[in-house]
Amino acid sequence: MASLQPVRGTHDLLPEQNRLHDHIAETARAIGELYGYHRMTTPIFEFTDVFARTLGDTSDVVTKEMYSFEDRGGEHITLRPEGTAGIARAYISNGMQQMSPVKVSYIGPMFRYERPQKGRQRQFHQIGAELLGVEQVAGDVEMIAYGAHILKQLGLWDDVTLELNTLGDPESRAAYRTVLVDYFKGHFDKLSEDSRTRLDKNPLRILDSKDEGDRELVANAPLFADYLNENSQQFFKGLTEGLGDIGIAYQLNPRLVRGLDYYCHTCFEFTTNTLGAQGTVMAGGRYDGLISTMGGPQTAGVGWAAGVERLALMVGEAPPAARPVALIPMGDDAERHCRKLAQDLREAGIAVELGYAGNMKKRLKRADKANARLAVILGDDELAKGVAQLRDLDNSDQREVALNVLIETVSKG
Ligand code: ATP
Ligand code: MG
Repeated sequence: MASLQPVRGTHDLLPEQNRLHDHIAETARAIGELYGYHRMTTPIFEFTDVFARTLGDTSDVVTKEMYSFEDRGGEHITLRPEGTAGIARAYISNGMQQMSPVKVSYIGPMFRYERPQKGRQRQFHQIGAELLGVEQVAGDVEMIAYGAHILKQLGLWDDVTLELNTLGDPESRAAYRTVLVDYFKGHFDKLSEDSRTRLDKNPLRILDSKDEGDRELVANAPLFADYLNENSQQFFKGLTEGLGDIGIAYQLNPRLVRGLDYYCHTCFEFTTNTLGAQGTVMAGGRYDGLISTMGGPQTAGVGWAAGVERLALMVGEAPPAARPVALIPMGDDAERHCRKLAQDLREAGIAVELGYAGNMKKRLKRADKANARLAVILGDDELAKGVAQLRDLDNSDQREVALNVLIETVSKG
């Protein structure tokens, strides 16, 4: 028989944990609506090209982390490692430029072949948002405000720092690239294997390297800020002023680059030191080059994504579930009456715990386990009199209530 262990790096979400995930998802969705972002859903797998071309063929995600396979028809398929490429593909395939600006959010599982550790899984979940068709820096400010709002709503604001950088426009990037390549060429023998490959293809990615030796070199590398042209400086000024206007504090981090190749201008991360090595909770930026790289119309874009597992670790516990009312019938007639009463209560929007069998003691225990707030205790003779006992399970107060006002009474508390 096959192993009954889940595949390494994947996890079951048991009900309590699932409720925490739902809470995060629902908070993100509701906050999104306040900013005019609506959910959209793309397939969990795409043609491998969608990711290979957009994430850049030197990114860790593409070179080491993708779950790719050939399907029965010989198509090259990849389980999505992130959300933006799929949405960009969908934007093009559905002609969504007609609806510009497009404001969407998403949630769903992502797949990366990584070494599993706390806050790092092979199947994990992301919430994210994209704004397509807006060139103005107001879009970047809105995006960051939206992400920050979710973190605030989840009670995490005191534990996160907004780190900010700019990657400039293509012209600045090209200028910086030249000096960066010169610098790293001067230290070629100290570069990691991976970074030597990146040096030709995408030297900026070296700034994002996790290799110790690379990091030392990076610490002394020329700074992007010194190579920004007027346009890029203005854009960044607009961003920092915009954040100032709405009172969002940030820290400049000139070493911050996104691991993905299509970003420009704004680059940000919300980081925390409460999660050990996995410090990035939410990451995003502007990607004006992405849609055209994929063969669509030139379209500006800005977005972010956050790992739900990391948020869940920080939030800790799901908010308490609605406390049910326990129905405790004693006798056959009462049992049948409670079946109908349970139905009526549930249809009135009240959670009901109705045991399937057992004596009063057992059912009260079960009610306690379900964290019931009230118990309706109904025996056959009470039923004949048209009353029931209503017990407050927090303080054991008990009183008699007429069955014809029971739903009303229970609804009130
Ligand atoms: P890291 O540097 O931690 O590997 P990344 O740069 O690969 O992150 P992004 O691609 O920007 O991450 O994804 C955005 C967010 O998704 C991360 O900030 C993190 O919260 C979450 N995330 C990324 N990879 C994983 C993973 N393997 N398991 C759990 N969450 C993840
Ligand atoms: Mg990663």
